[in-house]
Amino acid sequence: MYAPEQDRCFYHPNSVAVEKCERWNKLICLKCKRTRKAVHSYSVGTSGYIFCPACYRSIDKRSRKLRIIAYVLIVVIGVGGTFLIIWLMTMVSSNMPTLPEYP
Ligand SMILES: [Zn+2]
Ligand SMILES: [Zn+2]
Repeated sequence: MYAPEQDRCFYHPNSVAVEKCERWNKLICLKCKRTRKAVHSYSVGTSGYIFCPACYRSIDKRSRKLRIIAYVLIVVIGVGGTFLIIWLMTMVSSNMPTLPEYP
């Protein structure tokens, strides 16, 4: 049944829109609905964010990039921290009193 007063999906003009993309506020149908679990503490309680397929893809790509950056940071901090510990250990050991040498 055609219902002109009902909102239509942005991607499917023949489908009734049931949700709205949270990024672009585009109306989307059930087929287009993509949800993403809320990971931030301030959004606890919500089932997740609703996106259209295009936004979901771009956000997924961005989060992957962020994951790579986080990984690189962890590696850099880990390696830097290890070097710092080694440096501190050498400093401590060089300050230790040397044993008297036997003739
Ligand atoms: Zn649709
Ligand atoms: Zn969207």
